[in-house]
Amino acid sequence: MQHRIVVVGAGFGGLEVVKDLAGASVSITFIDRRNHHLFQPLLYQVATASLATSEIAWPIRSLVSDRPEVTTVLATVTGVDAGRRSVLLQDGQAVPYDTLVLATGARHAYFGHDEWEPFALGLKTLEDATTIRRRILLAFEQAERETDPLRQAALLTFVIVGAGPTGVEMAGTITELARDTLPREFRNIDTARARVVLIEAGPRVLAGFPDELSDYALRSLRKLGVEVELGRAVSDCTADGVTYGDVRLPTKTIIWAAGVRASPAAEWLGGPADRAGRLEVMPDLTVPGHPEIFAVGDTVTVAGPNGKPVPGIAPAAKQEGKHVAAIIKARLAGKVEAMPFRYSHQGSLAQIGKRRAVIDFGRIRLRGALAWWLWGAAHIYFLIGSRARLSVAINWLWIHARNQRSARLITQGDAAEQSLGRQAEPPVSGRMG
Ligand SMILES: Cc1cc2nc3c(=O)[nH]c(=O)nc-3n(C[C@H](O)[C@H](O)[C@H](O)COP(=O)(O)OP(=O)(O)OC[C@H]3O[C@@H](n4cnc5c(N)ncnc54)[C@H](O)[C@@H]3O)c2cc1C
Repeated sequence: MQHRIVVVGAGFGGLEVVKDLAGASVSITFIDRRNHHLFQPLLYQVATASLATSEIAWPIRSLVSDRPEVTTVLATVTGVDAGRRSVLLQDGQAVPYDTLVLATGARHAYFGHDEWEPFALGLKTLEDATTIRRRILLAFEQAERETDPLRQAALLTFVIVGAGPTGVEMAGTITELARDTLPREFRNIDTARARVVLIEAGPRVLAGFPDELSDYALRSLRKLGVEVELGRAVSDCTADGVTYGDVRLPTKTIIWAAGVRASPAAEWLGGPADRAGRLEVMPDLTVPGHPEIFAVGDTVTVAGPNGKPVPGIAPAAKQEGKHVAAIIKARLAGKVEAMPFRYSHQGSLAQIGKRRAVIDFGRIRLRGALAWWLWGAAHIYFLIGSRARLSVAINWLWIHARNQRSARLITQGDAAEQSLGRQAEPPVSGRMG
């Protein structure tokens, strides 16, 4: 019988494992609870109506259609029976394996305040992105019909919590949407007066970048019109506003870009985990006590060459996936030597707005327009397939030249009857026109 490999998770890590096992004499079961692979680095562009969902996601089946040894399964994994060597699915089925790879990623976390989740929207899935897009666009629509100035101001206040790359990118793009794209289309409000407030508990934006790039990002955000609040932690989020430091800010849109929690892979295996729930794997990415189980990507923690944990970013997950595929192939060829994973950091990138980005390649640090063009080229390069690359490039050029954002669609229900999706919220008063 052929060696049976089960890969759970078709994100960056899992997909790389499957890709790199091409040609090996194995049978692979590729399980994901979604039917698509998602390019999360551009998710914020769907959330801000710049790109359509199909430009950053691809059906998993289509990605492995030329691989007869790969069987794709749409299912949610709920546990692992390591003794019986099988993966447990939500529908009660069990999938047996000889080698298992867990690549189930992470989700946003609210630092123990899960009650904030309905009000402070996280960004991890396509549904999250279209929900945020809906909230942002509905806020403008409702502000257009609102006659009470205080309620109108709250509708036109957009708060982003967390000034890492996602928070910075969201803040910059919402500001450009409000100032460059929307003004000509609304009659009762000046969308350019919308407030975009970026709240960060730490002392810097883009804390993972060198000081000079972080300072540049802060200056650029302020120049764009983003209100950046540093050194103040959020202490409450409700349907009507956010509290940070001693400030209570009325708003109808809070976007949560702070904190992540790993998938429950560590719980499934009863393995050691860090505070964010990441499974602590061995240097070769196997699970302690289980040389037949590997785990990669955002769901694990492993030390990098500088002794610090490898960052939770796409290139790290891909490198780990590649490494696991190499070990599996070596084992199939009868080689058993230890192969510790070595992470190589290729650089950090973040976009701030049109023609503004920062890139840290280590010794080389770039900012401004050149960094922005490189940022764009790198992201287009990493998309899958010529159609997506062409389509995203055209969309970006169009936004650049005309400030038009084609994906400005309010979906998921009749917009007119719903008020920002919050059950307890009274309807907006005062119709105009
Ligand atoms: C908004 C955002 C922006 C980002 N921007 C960048 C960036 O600019 N650059 C960068 O390098 N990184 C970025 N990242 C981080 C990067 O996307 C992650 O590090 C990377 O996706 C991790 O890959 P992974 O394979 O571990 O997990 P993922 O890519 O998250 O894949 C996990 C997969 O597992 C599946 N899954 C989870 N649980 C189950 C289950 N129980 N059963 C079945 N399937 C399951 C999921 O559906 C998913 O397909 C960003 C992340 C986010 C959320």
